[in-house]
Amino acid sequence: MIYFDNAATTCVTDEVMQVFLRYLQDEYANISSKHIFASNIEKKVKAATKAIAKHLNVSADNVLFTSGATESNNMAIFSVTQRFPKAHLITTKIEHPSVLEVFKVLENKGFDVNYLDVDKSGLIDLEQLRSLIKENTKLISIMYVNNEIGSIQPIAEISKMLAQMDYKGFFHSDATQALGKFDCDMKRLGVDVLSASGHKLHAPKGIGLLAFQEGFSVRPLLFGGAQQRGLRSGTMNSSAIAAFAKAIDLAVAHRQSNYDRMIEFRKKLHGFAEKHKDICKLIGEMNATHSPYVNSLVFKNIKSEVILHSLEQRGIMVASSSACSSKSAALSHVLDALNDKDVENGAIRVSFSHLNTEEEVDQFLISLEQIIMDLVKFFK
Ligand code: PMP
Repeated sequence: MIYFDNAATTCVTDEVMQVFLRYLQDEYANISSKHIFASNIEKKVKAATKAIAKHLNVSADNVLFTSGATESNNMAIFSVTQRFPKAHLITTKIEHPSVLEVFKVLENKGFDVNYLDVDKSGLIDLEQLRSLIKENTKLISIMYVNNEIGSIQPIAEISKMLAQMDYKGFFHSDATQALGKFDCDMKRLGVDVLSASGHKLHAPKGIGLLAFQEGFSVRPLLFGGAQQRGLRSGTMNSSAIAAFAKAIDLAVAHRQSNYDRMIEFRKKLHGFAEKHKDICKLIGEMNATHSPYVNSLVFKNIKSEVILHSLEQRGIMVASSSACSSKSAALSHVLDALNDKDVENGAIRVSFSHLNTEEEVDQFLISLEQIIMDLVKFFK
């Protein structure tokens, strides 16, 4: 099998699995227990937390572990709106549903929400953002890397603009597709609060984090056992936390070399789209505004689902960004927001991990070429 659906989830690598299993089978105590077996493990979990916090450049006390980015995004947003029940909020049209749906709920409760447009390559316009900020804007939530088309919002540039404008609210970024792949130093990025998830970078599913700067006050979503200073109750998932820390360490250590390889892969996809430019297009640019980990290809007159299933028959797993329907209303909200007629048939999302090889990319492109040539003949 060739697996190119890494933006959906990744496998747990051997090195991470070793850590995970050690904590599940040997160092399994509940770290809230009072005995020495537990306190020894608690020390290790604290060290793992510190290592993660260092990568994010925040204090270890400002990292909370959650069940994943969905929970972290909910927590980040509700933390602000619980404090400021009349606030004005800004987000983008292309956020993950775990952000977008929260804003929809808040809008129904009477909050004033603006959704930023994006251009054809999935990037927001800073001037539109500037023009929307009001006296009572308390939260701006803008994702770092989009999970469907890989567009990278200029987070550091946005926070500089906010500082120049003397913006007094909070800035949240969903960095789920960025952690371990792009700079996530929160001081450099200038974000107050950041969400991420383990399973996108070869850690297990069911572990995520919420990291925040001084001055950001977290309001709990869950109440109970008072773990994590009462901000996120529930027995701490020590095995997943340790595995998450290991996965982040590995990703950060190899960040540049992994990125360089992914760029080569994206170039191959771009070359393919250029070769078949009468029927195929790669969304986004070939520069730092798009992540080479998340690539979306669109095809003229061919539904993305048809290509997805043809690839699947050849053992190649990709994702598709639309429901199988002829109506443009069935397009994913991200493709819809691009306002681009070229994407009306949906897109094939080809998302890489550093575990993928050049040979796999070549094999994929050979298969894709055969599939589209057959389909073009069929429709002629
Ligand atoms: N945000 C983004 C950008 C994502 O890609 C995902 C996962 N698809 C999530 C949030 C949700 O993450 P989780 O599965 O950990 O809840």
